[in-house]
Amino acid sequence: MSAPKVVVFAPGDEESYKRFEQAGCEVTLGKASWADPTGNTTEELAAMAVGADALVGSSIKGGRIDKGVMLGSEQLRIVAKYTVGVDEIDVDSATELGIIVTHAPTEANWGGVVETTMQQMLTLLKKSRQRDAALKHGTDWRTKELTATHIGRREDGYPGLTVGIVGLGRIGGRLAQMLAPWRVRMIGYDPYQPVDRFIHANVERVDLDSLLRESDVVTLHVTLTAETRHMIGEREFALMKPTAILLNTSRGPVVDEDALIAALQSETIAGAGLDVFEVEPLPMDSPLRKMDERVLLSAHVAAHNYGAGIGPGIQWGTEDALRALRGQVPEHVFNKEVIPRWRERFEGRGVI
Ligand code: NAD
Repeated sequence: MSAPKVVVFAPGDEESYKRFEQAGCEVTLGKASWADPTGNTTEELAAMAVGADALVGSSIKGGRIDKGVMLGSEQLRIVAKYTVGVDEIDVDSATELGIIVTHAPTEANWGGVVETTMQQMLTLLKKSRQRDAALKHGTDWRTKELTATHIGRREDGYPGLTVGIVGLGRIGGRLAQMLAPWRVRMIGYDPYQPVDRFIHANVERVDLDSLLRESDVVTLHVTLTAETRHMIGEREFALMKPTAILLNTSRGPVVDEDALIAALQSETIAGAGLDVFEVEPLPMDSPLRKMDERVLLSAHVAAHNYGAGIGPGIQWGTEDALRALRGQVPEHVFNKEVIPRWRERFEGRGVI
């Protein structure tokens, strides 16, 4: 029997492939790295995937693991991600072909995203950069322009802000938990979560248009799907308050970026905190790179923190792929509906 083939399409670090080599697999490494997730094209991925038993790795932006890539190997049993989100994988085709898809929503990852969301909100609303710059680069001590926003509700009748959470999954739910002591009004839109999740999170359930009309902070935490692609565009910005800010740590294509740029330029909204973009890395000539303090940018690093980073995800993803190669159903299956079919094809038929 020839050695099982594992394609690591986006290696995180050595740990991401050493364990496969130790298990006797033949490992092929892709081009993508954490610093530059562009990686291989779909055509290159298709060539690499021929005869593969497992495809594993972190995010890739330059190519997709589409049906054609998966059809390159009859024995392909798993596509395992080291990171959260499966938008570069054609999950429907994987399910149709009887292939398991896993991803790694570790607490280190989603917890880090919530902390970044809080940081974006505070930096923008507390005018952190303007206040700092006034002392380092200006001559004035205090100016009216440095007045910031009080966020929470107060006993003196100040109502506090309304925070609109779009997507009440892991990240949206944890955000509601972290915001609770701030005594803001929380409203949320997520048609796929049961009403009791909203009740437990103390988030009032509303429709998307009401959320956009009523929120001072609109924060996006949906997965990227056909339905959520461009869910925030020109029409939606027009519904928002001119004083409202938009935070996006979810996925770039959830927002129509041209419409966002136009909304910022025309002051239809007051600002934006963005960790994710329609094209990543963000092109050097993107107008977003030229915008003033109303726009806060980071390079898809919300989850990247000391003591967290990609390490826990590499462990999950590697373990998931090794289990699948041993003929066992892995732990973190995304397309659960495939499991019965997968069991028929691979259960008990280990290749390592
Ligand atoms: P999750 O699956 O736990 O939650 C996503 C939520 O979105 C679910 O509750 C789902 O019902 C909801 N949703 C789906 N379609 C919707 C729609 N049309 N309208 C409203 N809600 C909808 O995911 P999560 O772990 O909370 O991650 C949320 C997002 O954050 C994902 O897009 C993920 O890829 C992204 N993310 C980004 C980073 C980063 O570094 N910036 C890191 C981790 C995750």
